[in-house]
Amino acid sequence: KRLTGNEIRELFIKYFNENGHMVEPSAPLVPIDDDSLLWINSGVATLKKYFDGRVTPDNPKIVNAQKAIRTNDIENVGFTARHHTFFEMLGNFSIGDYFKKDAIKYAWDFLTNDDWIGFDADLLYVTVHPEDEDAYELWRNEIGLAPERIIRIEGNFWDIGEGPSGPNSEIFYDRGPEFEFDTPAEEMYPGGENERYLEIWNLVFSEFNHNKDGSYTPLPNQNIDTGMGLERMASITQEVPTNFDTDLFTPILARIEEISGYTYGEDEGRDVAFKVISDHIRTVSFAVADGALPSNEGRGYVLRRLIRRAVRFSKELNIARAFMYELVDPVANVMHVFYPNVDERSTFIKEVIRKEEERFLSTLDEGIQIYDQVKQKAASANGVISGSDAFRLYDTYGFPYELTKEYAENDNLTVDEAGFKQEMQQQRERARNARKSGDSMQVQSETLSEISDVSVFTGYQSLYEEAKLLH
Ligand code: ATP
Ligand code: MG
Ligand code: MG
Ligand code: MG
Repeated sequence: KRLTGNEIRELFIKYFNENGHMVEPSAPLVPIDDDSLLWINSGVATLKKYFDGRVTPDNPKIVNAQKAIRTNDIENVGFTARHHTFFEMLGNFSIGDYFKKDAIKYAWDFLTNDDWIGFDADLLYVTVHPEDEDAYELWRNEIGLAPERIIRIEGNFWDIGEGPSGPNSEIFYDRGPEFEFDTPAEEMYPGGENERYLEIWNLVFSEFNHNKDGSYTPLPNQNIDTGMGLERMASITQEVPTNFDTDLFTPILARIEEISGYTYGEDEGRDVAFKVISDHIRTVSFAVADGALPSNEGRGYVLRRLIRRAVRFSKELNIARAFMYELVDPVANVMHVFYPNVDERSTFIKEVIRKEEERFLSTLDEGIQIYDQVKQKAASANGVISGSDAFRLYDTYGFPYELTKEYAENDNLTVDEAGFKQEMQQQRERARNARKSGDSMQVQSETLSEISDVSVFTGYQSLYEEAKLLH
């Protein structure tokens, strides 16, 4: 059944609402009252207060479509069919109400019933934790899955750091042998690192709290927490090879085609650039809509990096000007049915992105002048550009290492790669320590704590002033 992204989201909420779940709005990407997370990274992240018993929900059964940012997947973006830095997680939750049995039955019914998604049941596989006999028995006897479709996997234990955790069970869709590519045989199973068996839904049976001190204690209740990837579901129902080929992305890609003059789908290398840019613009647009701004620390630094990364990839498409901001409109258009705030704040979002791009482009120009100095220095010495100079070009002037190397080769010079890597390592350690200190996070949360929900944005004026100060 062909379903648009918006239709899938709507069906999911409708299904669980009809089954007694209350609809919880999609919370802002910037966590409220939670300094353990930089970004909301899953549906449950915004519902911790219910899981750990701090707040009792009006209804113990909840459904949501939650915006999520995961920067840990950034290296995969553009290279796998299924990873984004920004995506939506559809989830149903039970706070001490139903447990494994109903969670499994709901999931199976929603996916295979023709009134809902209507997947061919023979294409579905599940994984369970090796010690979770209950889950195995339910899939085997309650649902009637053949034993070979139930795979026991050690890693099936959900843990996001501080917060609810427990064994989980995941559902995979078999896209067929044409997606095996050259995957090593030992990865070719549901749960392995491959593109054939697509992980679509994670059912978490959460029973423990992962405490601040690292210990685990039983939660007040046995809970259900699930997360389904909307973009992945769309790629299956629309029978397209990657999430980027769904209706959630094609208007953004079309705009990049207009801007660059290149056609998506003609060259593998350029397609990666198309994908990375279309991914990053969604993340940045939504994050800015939710109150984050590019800066040199914490969340702001993530946004700055994402914009710069996208600009770098745009060189693959020979784009030589600020352009990212022009992609905000297609993002807003695709998403405004459910997320009107990107549309409502698009003028502001575009302004923030355009300024950040322009700033970066002029920094790159400066970098070329700095490179000339570095080049002179190396040429009159041993012909080697030092690691610290290469790092300065990278860190301050946004020169990727490869670019410096390319320039250097042109000028018959080499670059001290080991020295560069050492500088990178030190930078990472500095970043890690900064994160640990938590101070800057605290400051950020203060400015942003005024944002109470998606449609109320009291911090606008001060944030705008702050944005201007950046330039
Ligand atoms: P994967 O193994 O593919 O990286 P995951 O196991 O890390 O996914 P979960 O934490 O179980 O993902 O999240 C629940 C669901 O959210 C996944 O089953 C998937 O459908 C979706 N999802 C997770 N990460 C991403 C991502 N980076 N981009 C798009 N969808 C995602
Ligand atoms: Mg992952
Ligand atoms: Mg997984
Ligand atoms: Mg998973």
